[in-house]
Amino acid sequence: MNECSFKGRKGGIALSFRIRKAAVIGSGVMGSGIAAHLANVGIPSLLLDIVPSELTDREKAKGLSLEDKEVRNRYAEKALKGLLNQKPAPLTSRKNVGLIKAGNLEDDIEKLSEADWIIEVVVENLDAKKQIFKKVDQYRKKGSIISSNTSGISVEAMSEGLSEDFQKHFLGTHFFNPPRYLKLLEIIPTQKTDPAVVAFMKTFGEDVLGKGVVVAKDTPNFIANRIGTYGLLVAVNEMLQGGFSIGEIDSITGPLIGRPKSATFRTLDVVGLDTFIHVANNVYESVEGHEKDVFKVPDFMKQMLENGWLGSKAGQGFYLKKGQEILQLNPQTLEYEPRKRLKTPGVEMAKREKGTAQKLKALIYSSDPAGELLWNITAPVLIISAELLGNIADDPVSIDQAMKWGFGWELGPFEMWDAIGVDKAVGKMEQQGWTVPSWVKEMLHQGHSTFYKEVSGTEYYWAGHEYKNVVKNPKFIDLKLLKKQGKVLKKNSGASLIDLDDGVVLLEFHSKNNAIGFDIIQMLNYAIDETEQHYKGLVIGNQGKNFCVGANIGLILMAAQDDDLFEVDMVIRQFQKAMMRIKYCEKPIVTAPFGMTLGGGAEVCLPSAHIQASMETYMGLVETGVGLIPGGGGNKELYIKTLKSMPHGVDYDLQKVANKVFETIAMAKVSASGQEAKENNFLNRADGISVNGDHLIYDAKHAVLALHERGYQPPVQEKVPVTGETGYATLLLGAESMRLSGAISEHDMKIAKKLAYVIAGGNLPFGTKVDEQYLLDLEREAFLSLVAESKSQQRMQHMLLKGKPLRN
Ligand code: NAD
Repeated sequence: MNECSFKGRKGGIALSFRIRKAAVIGSGVMGSGIAAHLANVGIPSLLLDIVPSELTDREKAKGLSLEDKEVRNRYAEKALKGLLNQKPAPLTSRKNVGLIKAGNLEDDIEKLSEADWIIEVVVENLDAKKQIFKKVDQYRKKGSIISSNTSGISVEAMSEGLSEDFQKHFLGTHFFNPPRYLKLLEIIPTQKTDPAVVAFMKTFGEDVLGKGVVVAKDTPNFIANRIGTYGLLVAVNEMLQGGFSIGEIDSITGPLIGRPKSATFRTLDVVGLDTFIHVANNVYESVEGHEKDVFKVPDFMKQMLENGWLGSKAGQGFYLKKGQEILQLNPQTLEYEPRKRLKTPGVEMAKREKGTAQKLKALIYSSDPAGELLWNITAPVLIISAELLGNIADDPVSIDQAMKWGFGWELGPFEMWDAIGVDKAVGKMEQQGWTVPSWVKEMLHQGHSTFYKEVSGTEYYWAGHEYKNVVKNPKFIDLKLLKKQGKVLKKNSGASLIDLDDGVVLLEFHSKNNAIGFDIIQMLNYAIDETEQHYKGLVIGNQGKNFCVGANIGLILMAAQDDDLFEVDMVIRQFQKAMMRIKYCEKPIVTAPFGMTLGGGAEVCLPSAHIQASMETYMGLVETGVGLIPGGGGNKELYIKTLKSMPHGVDYDLQKVANKVFETIAMAKVSASGQEAKENNFLNRADGISVNGDHLIYDAKHAVLALHERGYQPPVQEKVPVTGETGYATLLLGAESMRLSGAISEHDMKIAKKLAYVIAGGNLPFGTKVDEQYLLDLEREAFLSLVAESKSQQRMQHMLLKGKPLRN
């Protein structure tokens, strides 16, 4: 179970919070997602919803009455079933659903007294929420924390008239959908919330729930939805006024400017037009001035709502998928038409720039239609962000982080402003008659040209009169900043060795897709030499998009196509040797995988002394997809790790171990989370999982230090029992039946045979104990024979060109 304890001191009274058990009220989209996320981090919860007032046809047919539990818990039970089928999966393992108990607000209301945190997630309606809280106040235990997941209703208003203890422990906790994946958690204290509760929830949100926490003020829609909805509506209005199409707007407002692929209108389709209009209306009704006009939803969107064209959940919205084609809605005619993109010289020029800041800067001042469009939709967002500072959040950092974590922007509004030049942008805004908030002009006037600055690897933000330190969670080690602090000890094209202090070094991959080539192997060997001589231990990790997508198959394919098997043999030997060095290094090596950790990436992790994986780790030995089998010791290591996971002192079936490993590799199974990687034996029981990906390097560093403190000794080489000849035959039985049924191709069968031979340990009697090197030699021979196959080469080529496996 995951717990977060916190002791704060206020007015001389020691306060202590601990969340061992939660209650979630409302089991809809968000309530069930939040309960799932709590389960993912090990916190059990009670999921409550209303009692149905009518029977469904199915319930009637079953002879049930309104008094039956099955009926009374219908909503929450249905939500639990839904969690198992939703995509993307809300649970990091299906098993986690067992931590959520379904109930209803009548029969189970007294159980609220067991919860340390009660979170309300019912319909977005002040009266409904107030009624719930009245009940909660009656049944909760004193000192428990209560929060609302409202998207934008006044948090203060919800707790009016409730007990003092309630009000002290009450705040808004605004999760974004889907709660497992979206990083942002806005915390909204009221005037009466105890600061110790706020401090606790911030730490708890970051360290236990793995979120990026931003403290927001109790204003309509808080931070991200206030700015984000405004920005989306500005883009919609600009489309209508400028005569652009939906596809054209999306082609400019997506990855080109550091926003998600879903850009403007696909984002709206995913959110759902009903939800979006609800959120927009909430601000419209609560604010005044020029901001209000923007929140007025255009007529064509109201018409879409009436037609039920709500987006993805309705099968159509701003886009409609027809067969393979994606059509865009014409807002004038409300008919669907082929999708268009805005292509102008300015766009082409921007695309050639490196990095989002440069692209943005290149396009926003270009005087072609795309440049003008980008300016027209960006300038108002920058201005409103500056205007609302102090009203919705205390500092620009909170606004930028909320937009980055909640809306997936690469740059927040103030970072964008810095990127395009504050002075230049302010000049253009004023020329066009915009009123720029005085604090921005004052900053410029005082000779400061940016909202952020960086001095010797430390970041500062403009705080009104002076620059202040950007405060980050102490568990976030930012490699980008370490590099600026001169902590790089050695570097080549694929990797760097960085000093993490306290006697720990880090090997960072930074090749394209972090694929492993000679340069990485070279640095790895160097890092191990250095670590053994001078340091307490080594972390292998990085902060790229993915930990590592595998070995560089381009190199292998090139050598194979030149019939240079000698070269491939040499590469594989070096790779295997380096992996063995990881395993037997005299000092502890901790790997820190996250995101895609495939093929060679997984092979780097398997032999390490400890794996500290992110909760979002997608790990697998996927070489069969490119016509190969793992060549860097992955077969052997997964087999040994699986063997070691067997209970001690109990007879186990060696064949079952071989079967499981064979199945995992032959089917190129990839774990859908760190927890699943554990269930597939890529991680063992002692390996760690970091819920907050930003804390991964810190956690890995501390794992190194803990191993060092305990007097780390490398493992002793042991012989490995194999299933041999009979095992090989058994492994092939399953594959053969799949071939006969047509589920796998002849070439798949060929690969399966090679793999089975390696996992079974060749042609030996069952139970023979062999050296690791013997298994590595088998693996290398099998790899070399597969590399030479033309169908395997076709698979590699296809992967390199198309980025997905070819079935041949
Ligand atoms: P939903 O409609 O999916 O679920 C609401 C749940 O509340 C349902 O299970 C319903 O049975 C229950 N409910 C309805 N009336 C009730 C009452 N009077 N008492 C108790 N339960 C009642 O809604 P949702 O999308 O999960 O949203 C829930 C809350 O989360 C809202 O406040 C919403 O604004 C907020 N929110 C939603 C999103 C989102 O993307 N959907 C994102 C962030 C916040």
